[in-house]
Amino acid sequence: MKDEIRRSEKQHTLGELAASIAHEVRNPLTVVKGFLQLMEGEDERHKHYYPLILSELGRAEHIISDYLNFAKPEFKKIETFPIALLIIDLSILLNPYALKEGISLTHSIESNAEITTDRNQLKQALINILKNAVEATPKEGRVSIKLIREGEYVKVIVRDTGKGMTKEQLSRVGSLFFSTKEQGTGLGTMVSTRIIESMGGRVEYTSKIGKGTKVSVTLPLKNTSEAETV
Ligand code: ADP
Ligand code: MG
Repeated sequence: MKDEIRRSEKQHTLGELAASIAHEVRNPLTVVKGFLQLMEGEDERHKHYYPLILSELGRAEHIISDYLNFAKPEFKKIETFPIALLIIDLSILLNPYALKEGISLTHSIESNAEITTDRNQLKQALINILKNAVEATPKEGRVSIKLIREGEYVKVIVRDTGKGMTKEQLSRVGSLFFSTKEQGTGLGTMVSTRIIESMGGRVEYTSKIGKGTKVSVTLPLKNTSEAETV
């Protein structure tokens, strides 16, 4: 019992630390980026360095959003809520981004089931999956989210009409640092999978190259297993 308490205290601290690092590092990054953009047109001699510097700053931002950017610095807060509300939240949150990329993001909700789990962690896991779907999809493409119930489980199915994955890529998705993107971190799918699995759920990818990808997230209605902090 004593050990358990200590363990959960430690996880809480780690979670808070991750969230505060994300916050504290993002601020100076934003300032540096702003000044660089101001200087870009003025200094002819070092002009060719700017794209590189900006892209490295972009990478740092990606790492923060894939890995440390939990919606709120609250960890292991178990709540009971209709998962439909989270899907709607995510849709609202990501719609401007999808629109900017010329992609239609839709959702279809076929269950009003309530789920008992850490809402913010689940949010982060689904954000990473949805961001990948949008990133893989060309202009005029579609990303859809579907929520269904299957017995004591709910399924969140994310489909995209994007570039898809080869068999080899499919076998590596979710492993640490695997990325096919120029500015990729290879952290997003790993973090998502760890979160979902720690909730007693699973993530399955099916994909056809040139056609698109389907990600199925299956979650138990009650989060029974000890959620682990990532
Ligand atoms: P990152 O997005 O930084 O590359 P992720 O861990 O989020 O890292 O994703 C790892 C890789 O998995 C991506 O680079 C991409 O090759 C592949 N991937 C993930 N989701 C999709 C998707 N919906 N469509 C095509 N490829 C995907
Ligand atoms: Mg990603």
